This record gives sequence, structure tokens and C-alpha cells, in this order.
Amino acid sequence: MVEGLWFLINFFFLFEVTASVNFYHHNYEDLVRALYNVQNECPYITRIYSIGRSTQGRHLYVLEFSDNPGIHEPLEPEFKYVGNMHGNEVLGRELLIQLSEFLCEEYRLRNDRITRLIHSTRIHILPSMNPDGYEVAAEQGPDANGFLTGRNNINEVDLNRNFPDLNTQMYYSEKINGPNHHMPLPDNWKSQVEAETLATIQWMTSYNFVLSANLHGGAVVANYPYDKARTRGARYASYSATPDDTLFKKLARTYSYAHGWMHQGWTCGDYFEDGITNGAHWYSLSKGMQDFNYLYTNCFEITLELSCNKFPRQGDLEREWYGNRDALISYIEEVHQGIKGMVLDENNNGIPNAAISVNGINHDITSGKMGDYFRLLLPGTYTVSASAPGRKSQTVKVTVGPAEPLQVNFQLQPDKALSIQEEKTPVKNLNSKAHLKKIIPRATREEPQR
Ligand SMILES: [Zn+2]
Repeated sequence: MVEGLWFLINFFFLFEVTASVNFYHHNYEDLVRALYNVQNECPYITRIYSIGRSTQGRHLYVLEFSDNPGIHEPLEPEFKYVGNMHGNEVLGRELLIQLSEFLCEEYRLRNDRITRLIHSTRIHILPSMNPDGYEVAAEQGPDANGFLTGRNNINEVDLNRNFPDLNTQMYYSEKINGPNHHMPLPDNWKSQVEAETLATIQWMTSYNFVLSANLHGGAVVANYPYDKARTRGARYASYSATPDDTLFKKLARTYSYAHGWMHQGWTCGDYFEDGITNGAHWYSLSKGMQDFNYLYTNCFEITLELSCNKFPRQGDLEREWYGNRDALISYIEEVHQGIKGMVLDENNNGIPNAAISVNGINHDITSGKMGDYFRLLLPGTYTVSASAPGRKSQTVKVTVGPAEPLQVNFQLQPDKALSIQEEKTPVKNLNSKAHLKKIIPRATREEPQR
């Protein structure tokens, strides 16, 4: 009996020690080792891949969780987390390492919630998008760290100001009832972006991501698109809503309310009601990653500001993990809402790139390579259409509930008459050079968080 008790005391002592030992700042080698350790512990549900290299040649490693790693299963949504885009904002990087270890451990312990999540979702975790900047910031350490040291990549470029600006095109397109999704990239975009940005954009287009968050520091708030103000010259209080504004607010609130204190609103000397903010309402930001996700892909991304101190002390990491753990899980679960289904042809083959339009929401999404689509929606009744070139479009009325996503399949029959007509009538091309020349980007003053 006494021996048993002694064993228990020892067990808890050891467990506590082991647990707290994990809360330390991981440099590049530590980060790689931590990811491979998780892969070793959970080989059947994980995969490590690199999306490319940083300017100094460090790999941008992603850890994937899935019941079938490396494979897209139709109707199983793809989710991503991106950390440490600003090299000196390091909490996201540490939280994503913790999250990886947690998902693996809990899966092995047969935790119901985690098992369900991994069986129904393909989760991609990029703990550091800016490993070069991190090393610069880490050299200074938590206490001596200047506000901006290591923020940029090694070429001194702010990666969250380095994506092609598609907002300007979109705001023009809105006025002329032009395209409302997948805006085209400028011709020479590749030569205008950094290695890290290029790798991330190619990653974004290789997977049909549905939901994402991008982890930062310097404030505590869940920030949702648009980041770039619609109104010329406006800087403060210029709320720039997307057509999915109510959904984005709900996504941001899911994080802030599952977080230990974010929802309380008062943090780092700022106040944000419910712990959320529209990006442009806070301050306008051009060429950010969050808006780019929404305007160029099917992915809905929010930006999470997670700590006042961009480089928290090691001793604070454990508290931060417990403050964020449930929020990180709950936010992934948000990928399972709205409607999803297959867009098929007359022979039941999937139709890729079919547009899914929802009446009243001026933002279409498209089906993936296998013809499956995912349309995040709040509960309600919607009129939804699927369309593809050369086919008759199909429209249905659906009622979305609060729990599981509703499966709505479409079958689009060929429309010979329609395809002949389309060939004859030149489609107005919004993306022509003539149109784009009319749009003059404006300079924006920027604040150093997002
Ligand atoms: Zn940041």
C-alpha cells in the first residue's frame, strides 16, 4: 500500500517534470527534431514534408496529421496552421509544436475528440514560415529582443506584406459585378515575392485548403479579413467586410471564446470586443497572407495574435499552451460546417473547378481535383448553385444545421447549346491589362503586429 502510494507520487513527480521540460524555445534543429519525434511516435497518422527552403536554405517543414497521410480523401477537408511568419513572433511556433505532440499523444491514448478529428480532417501544420528570421530573433533572446529584430526574413522583407495584392482588383471587380473569387496573379508575381512567400503560395495551390489560421504576436486578438481597407486613404475605423463577414466573425469568436482570456477583450493596452477584430478596422494592411488566401484560393484564413510579448520567456510557455490548447482544437473543428459534396458529370466522374455559388454571398468557391467541394456556412436556408463551363448549372435549396456539414451533391449535364453559345460570345475579361491599369494601388502606413 505504502509502496503503491510512493509509486504514484513518483509517477506524478516524473510526469510533471517531463511535461514542463517540453516547454522551451526550439531553434531550427530542435524544431526539426521535435517534428521527427512526433512522426516517430505516431507513424501511421503523420507525414513530414517540406514546402521549400527559406532564403538561407532552411526547410519549411510541414507536419501532416491524417488517417491516410499523404492522400486527399474526397469529402475530407484540408486544414492548415501557419506559425512564425514574423521571425520574432515565436509563440505560434511553440504552440504548434505542442499541438503536434498533443495530437499524437491523445490519439495514442484514444481520446475520442482527437481521434474523430484526425479521422475526419487532414491537418497540415507549418510551425515556422520564417526560420531565418527566428534565428536572428532568438540570438537576442526574450529579454533583449527589440520590437522588430528578426521580424522580417533575411532579406529584410516583411513576409506579411509580400503577397500579391489582390484586394485592389477585387474592390474594383465588386463595383462592376466582375469575378468574385480566385483573382488572377500579376504576370511577373514570382519575381516579386520572397522564397518563403513563393513556397507558401505554391503550397496553398497544391492542396484544396478550406480553413486556416496564421499565428502572430504583439497583441491578443483574433483578426479576420479583410486586412486591407476598401476606402482610399482611410486608416482607422474603416471596417472592410468580406461577403462572408458573419461567418468570419463566428470563426474568430470560436477561437477567442475557447481561449483562456482572449475573449475578455482587454489585453496589451488595447480593447477588442469579444477579442476579435476586422483587420482593416484595426489598421489597414496591404499584401497580407490572410486576404490572399480568401482572394486566390478556397481557403478561409484568420490571423491570430496570441501574446503581448512577441518573444515570451520560457517560463510563460506552459501557461500559454493551456490558454490556447482548446482554442487550437476547436478552431480546427470549425472546418466541419456548412455544406460539402461532389460535383459529378453524367458518368459520375468528379468535375474539378466547378463553381459553387450561394445566393446572397458574393464569393464562390470551387471544387477540388476530385470534384469534391467544401462551402463553410452558418446555419440557415440557402439557395446554392453549381456550374462548370459547357454544362447546365444546377440549383438547390438547402437548410444547414448547426452540427455536421450537410452533404449536397450535384450532377451537371453537358449543355451543347450552351457551349456553342459561349464560344461565340467573348466573355468580358476583367483581368485584361486595360482593366488593371485603371487600378492604382495606394500606399498604406502600417503597424508592426500582423
Ligand atoms: Zn506578426
